[in-house]
Amino acid sequence: EMSQRKESIVMLPFMAQGHIIPFLALALQLDQTKKYTITFVNTSLNIKKLRPSIPANSSIHLLEIPFDSSVYGLPPGTENTDSLPYHLIANFLEASLSLKPAFRKIISDHVEEQKGHPPFCVITDMFFGWCAEIAHEFGAFHAIFSGCGGFGFACYYSLWLNLPHQNNLSDEFTLPDFPEASTIHVTQLAENLKEANGKDLFSVCLQSMLPECTNADGILLNTVEELDRVGLGYFRRKTGKPVWPIGPVLLSNRSQDQAAITPDLCKHWLDTKPAGSVLYISFGSQNVISASQMMELAMALEACGKHFIWVVRPPVGFDINMEFKAKEWLPEGFEERMEHSKRGLLVRKWAPQVEILSHKSVSAFLSHCGWNSVLESLSNGVPLVGWPLAAEQFYNVKLLEEHIGVCLEVARGKSCEVRQEDIVKKIMLVMDETEKGNAMRRKAREVRDMILDAVQYENDHKGSSVKAMDEFLDAASLMREGNKWAADR
Ligand code: UDP
Repeated sequence: EMSQRKESIVMLPFMAQGHIIPFLALALQLDQTKKYTITFVNTSLNIKKLRPSIPANSSIHLLEIPFDSSVYGLPPGTENTDSLPYHLIANFLEASLSLKPAFRKIISDHVEEQKGHPPFCVITDMFFGWCAEIAHEFGAFHAIFSGCGGFGFACYYSLWLNLPHQNNLSDEFTLPDFPEASTIHVTQLAENLKEANGKDLFSVCLQSMLPECTNADGILLNTVEELDRVGLGYFRRKTGKPVWPIGPVLLSNRSQDQAAITPDLCKHWLDTKPAGSVLYISFGSQNVISASQMMELAMALEACGKHFIWVVRPPVGFDINMEFKAKEWLPEGFEERMEHSKRGLLVRKWAPQVEILSHKSVSAFLSHCGWNSVLESLSNGVPLVGWPLAAEQFYNVKLLEEHIGVCLEVARGKSCEVRQEDIVKKIMLVMDETEKGNAMRRKAREVRDMILDAVQYENDHKGSSVKAMDEFLDAASLMREGNKWAADR
């Protein structure tokens, strides 16, 4: 037969936007090779949300997995973490374990449909290491994929497994199995980590889920070898499995219906500013700062005299999706003054971030340092002013500042006291022609070139991320060949 049958890949991310989005980006990247049919599995609500993002001509199929959260103390019909109160996230994590039989059935049905052929590969979330057993039962290759960077994920993994701060009386400690990360300070712990005692539901779940990553045949990370060797080394050592840095895997187009400003308008505004003169400020899609921090930041922006684009969202304590009330949350007349002087642009809710970061007028990014934002900034050679707020963002900043030298931390967390003078000082240090600023810009350009090289594929040259992807697909093929050979006998 001339037309070659496409290999099949099954993907299952954890049911949270921060996990689904990198999986979607990976699915779209794999789809571009035209070699695979991809079955993207999730709860029905998430599948509905995903449908518009799947191009009509793609070989990506969305498949619903039944999920009943009601027995885990969750509100009826909970299918993702979107509007789940913080104290129920652990219950949701626990409830996700109940997907096992349904996922097994999906794989088993799939094998039956394919006349006994197992999927070429099953790719699941870092919280779903338990899928390895199911994939292997049916003879499929199993990989974990995480949208995190190696270093940040390694710190997070080690912290949860060891809870080292629990036996520590001082404010600083080192990670027992990751000393290369050097000291961690208690202010660098996410709230749920701070509260963890090893017996709480979150700890119990993560401490059983994370080590199951070791059962996978390999781990895919959204990062670049040359940038992230220390973190990659941790997982290689810890799991004894291949770890493939295939990043950056990013969605090229994330414009949303809720976008408050068109990319054109933004570009137009930026076009009127001199090269390298604008600070871009955003805290990502899920995190906000407190009302008093927002006030200090606004005063700092006014005092430092720099051009800026700021994606504003309601402060801590308000519904993240409610209307932004500049009159209540910013200094009096701030928005009008910024508009009148054309100094600053306030964008409500959602900005075309990738377009902004790639504009030559932008010279620094004040960011919560979520990993996607980090990759987007560095891909454009833009140094960062770090303000981590949650999860592994604290360790992303640590990597960027201490190991790479492209970031300066300005504040830490949603409840720290931050003074406008300090913010001004740090913004100036990064944006002005200071020794530090120049060094950071130089380094950021180097990193940009490094990232460009990693994804480069030309005749005789394959970048590290291209190679890592090849190695992953080869490993899966090898398993496939092994199975064929076994079947032939
Ligand atoms: N993003 C955007 N516009 C916004 C805010 C966020 O396009 O106003 C995009 C951003 O480009 C990135 C993602 O949303 O791709 C945020 O991911 P990240 O890992 O940085 O942080 P998270 O939102 O998961 O905390």
